Amino acid sequence: MKDNSQIKKQWLQQIPSLWPALKGSLAKVYKPCIRKNCPACARGDKHPAWLLSLSYQGRRTTMYVPQPMVSTIKKAIQNGRKIEQLLYRTGPGLLRNYRKNTQKTHQRHPKS
Ligand SMILES: [Zn+2]
Repeated sequence: MKDNSQIKKQWLQQIPSLWPALKGSLAKVYKPCIRKNCPACARGDKHPAWLLSLSYQGRRTTMYVPQPMVSTIKKAIQNGRKIEQLLYRTGPGLLRNYRKNTQKTHQRHPKS
């Protein structure tokens, strides 16, 4: 449909720049280690670790995120939200377009 080209253009421009994208939540946790006499664990500081939690069709998964991957995962979660916003906007966009086109057709036959 020619008249949805503006919305399509927005998609084609935005989607490639939103890689990587994911849906999930990142949490920082502090865990004790298995070493004996660890000073950090003895102080109660423990050790920071990052976990990625996913919930898909009622099934929860948690994965350990290595420190060098944390910024990538954070970025991917942000991009995932942007894609979600794009999806939310697409429905109203398509319908508004349809309405606009219908009005254009009516303008060819003015009431007065
Ligand atoms: Zn420790």
